[in-house]
Order: sequence, then structure tokens, then C-alpha cells
Amino acid sequence: MPSQQQFLIAGGGLGGLATALGLARKGYSSTVLEQSSRFGEIGAGIQMAPNAFKTFDHLGVGDRARRGAVFVDEMVLMDALSGERIAALSVGERFRKRFGNPYAVVHRADLHASFVEACRDSKRVDLQVDSQVVRYTQTEDVVTAHLRDGRQVTGIALIGADGLRSKVRQQLVDDGEPLVSGHTTFRSVIPTEKMPDDLRWNAATLWAGPKCHLVHYPLKDGKVFNLVITCHNDAKEAENGKPVSRDEVRKHFMHVNARVRQLIDHGEDWKYWVLCDREPIQNWVEGRVALLGDAAHPMLQYYAQGACMAMEDAVFLSHAIEKHGDNIKQALIYYNRGRAVRTARVQMGSRLIGEYIYHPAGAKADVRNATMSAMSEEEYFAEFAWLYDGQDLPA
Ligand SMILES: Cc1cc2nc3c(=O)[nH]c(=O)nc-3n(C[C@H](O)[C@H](O)[C@H](O)COP(=O)(O)OP(=O)(O)OC[C@H]3O[C@@H](n4cnc5c(N)ncnc54)[C@H](O)[C@@H]3O)c2cc1C
Repeated sequence: MPSQQQFLIAGGGLGGLATALGLARKGYSSTVLEQSSRFGEIGAGIQMAPNAFKTFDHLGVGDRARRGAVFVDEMVLMDALSGERIAALSVGERFRKRFGNPYAVVHRADLHASFVEACRDSKRVDLQVDSQVVRYTQTEDVVTAHLRDGRQVTGIALIGADGLRSKVRQQLVDDGEPLVSGHTTFRSVIPTEKMPDDLRWNAATLWAGPKCHLVHYPLKDGKVFNLVITCHNDAKEAENGKPVSRDEVRKHFMHVNARVRQLIDHGEDWKYWVLCDREPIQNWVEGRVALLGDAAHPMLQYYAQGACMAMEDAVFLSHAIEKHGDNIKQALIYYNRGRAVRTARVQMGSRLIGEYIYHPAGAKADVRNATMSAMSEEEYFAEFAWLYDGQDLPA
């Protein structure tokens, strides 16, 4: 049984596990309460920017996380109508030197498994499955998580890392359902030999078109390619990994260049998600309870930063606890204040780049092509610095 001196973490996604690892590094114990019957991740690839690698090193999983990563050569932006290359940023030596870390793509399951492995290796982390948190109660000194099966677990703080539909947020913020963006994402993974020859690039590639975009990159030592393609079809209902036929996927991309459209024909077992986010909020703490990751600041995927932000939260939180550990409530407020502006900026920016870089048409697309093709490497570095440099921990 967990001791009351433990932190409770609702949710064993990347954010929750990173929190447990961060706290363990500072000498604190935690119990991770995961609703599923096993620890795992759905979906295939995930992009990891230099700021993610900075967090891996803070969390002590740098080597494990790097093991499964594919280090791409470039980030490439293509015009999905004309088929022309708009811009490419090399993420080789100069990029790594500038940001101190690489840009990589990783299989979600591999990354998550390396976090689970690190948690299991730690004496300070207790992983519990079949443990859905439905609500909490707290006194001056402790907080109790109430589980769906009637169990109650008590600790010194509760971190709600329970994702987009967080029960902890429901009670703490009470701001209803997430906002349905109307953007639908279809995902598939294909063996590299099925990837069209002329698209087998060691790059994180984005084809941007009117109300749609297509992303592909290699995974698993280049053995497979991850396809993530999105259309703004005004979908009304949130969905999360529902199977969909290839013909249905194809229907939404008939207007894009044939060269990239062929990706859809090669994809198998397509699944789709209808993307959601929320408006940024200033406060995500109540006494001994705080939110983290998607529970605190769910965002559209366009900066490819949701998981990176959840891990940065975890690093900042463990720093806050180390700094104010004798006063947990103050530590949580310090964490919230330290993270709210940066994460809100990514939430808001994700919507904006969705509109102006990923999905514009006509004159707006011309502006994108003209400005982004004219930018130098230094200008791209300057543009990304606020994000990829990560967040320094205050003294
Ligand atoms: C299409 C797409 C592409 C993306 N690409 C990227 C990318 O390239 N890079 C990037 O950084 N981010 C990306 N993201 C965002 C990223 O996936 C999320 O931001 C990240 O997974 C959030 O992690 P989390 O731990 O906060 O939440 P989650 O991953 O949602 O984990 C929450 C966990 O809590 C559990 N849970 C839920 N409710 C309860 C409860 N009541 N009690 C107990 N357990 C509970 C769940 O089972 C789950 O295990 C992408 C997202 C999408 C949709």
C-alpha cells in the first residue's frame, strides 16, 4: 500500500510517468494510478524536438529515449497542391550545436516503454493499473483519490495527468467538454518497401494544402514510415482512433498533388481522430491538486509539442517540489505560475500555425510560400528558439 507521504499521479501516459521519474530523481515517491489494464500508448510516431531531449536528460532517461529514435536529416515543407518544395531546414550538426540536442522521431510505444522500464527500475515509483480516478477530496494535510472500484488512495498531493478528458480537471476547473476543432487526423504505418520510392526521405515532411496537410517520417530504424494526414472537414464529434476505410480517407484528399496522394493508397488499417483542444487557462491548482500535460493545456498537434510540454511540466514540477517541498501547496502554485504562459503560448500558436502554415489556401498560401522559402537557416533558428531551447529552471 502506498504511504501517505507519496505523491499520487492520475494517468500513466508520457506526462504521468515523466512526473513519477522527475519526483523520484528528487527523492520523492509516487504512485501512478492508470485506468487501463496495462501501461501502453496508442498511435505510432511522435516527433521530439530538442526541448524534449533536454527533459529526457533531466528525467534520467536520455540514453533509453535516444535508443529507439530516428534522427532525421531535415524538416521539409512541401506545397501539397503544386508538389513543390517550399522550404527545408537541415537538423544536422549546426542545428544540434545551436539547440544542444537533436530533432528526432520516435515510436510512441517504444518511448512509453522506456519510461515504464525506468519507473520499474526505481524504488520510488509504484505503478498501478485498473485504477481510474473519478474524484478527489482533500484536507489541510492530505489528498485522497477516489477510484472507480471504490478504493481510496491517500497521498500528499495529486497530480492530474489524466489527459484530454481528465476527471481531475473536471472537478478542479469544471469547464465542460474539450473543444472539437473540426480537424480529422488519419493515421497509418507502412513498411518502408511500400513507401513510394521518391518519398523515402529521412525527414519529417509536411505537405501543406488547402484545409488539409500530410505528414510522413521514418520510424523503427527506418523500417517503417509513419503517415499522419489531416483534413479540416468540420467534424462535429470527438473521435479517438476509430478504424476507417481507405476510400473514406481518399475522399478528403482528392484535391492534392498525385505524388503525395499515392501515400493514401499504400496506407493500411487507417484509423482516425477528431482533434480537440481547450482555451488556455491561468489556474490549474487547487490546494494539494494540480493538473499536468494534456489535462492542463490540451493543444492541437501542429507544433508537435503536446508530449514535449507534458514532459517539461514534469521537470518543472519536480524542480518546484525540490524548492518548496516543505510547503506542497506553495510548490504547486509555483509550478502553475512557472508553466502557464509558455504552455498557453504553444496552445495558441498551434491553432495559428494550423491556419496560416498547415491549411491556408489562395493568397494566404502564397504568403506562406513566399515568406517561408525566403527564410535563412539563422532566421529559422531564431524563430524556433523560444520553443526548442526549452525552459530554463529558475534558481
Ligand atoms: C495526431 C496527434 C499527433 C501528435 N503528435 C505529437 C508530436 O509529434 N509530438 C508531441 O510532443 N506531441 C504530439 N501529440 C500530443 C501528445 O500525444 C499529447 O500531448 C501527449 O500524449 C499528452 O500526454 P499526457 O500524459 O498528458 O496525456 P495522455 O497521453 O492522454 O495520457 C493520459 C493517461 O491517463 C490515463 N487516464 C485517463 N483518465 C484517467 C483517470 N480518470 N484515471 C486514471 N488514468 C486515467 C489514460 O489511460 C492515459 O494513459 C500529438 C497528438 C495527436 C492527437
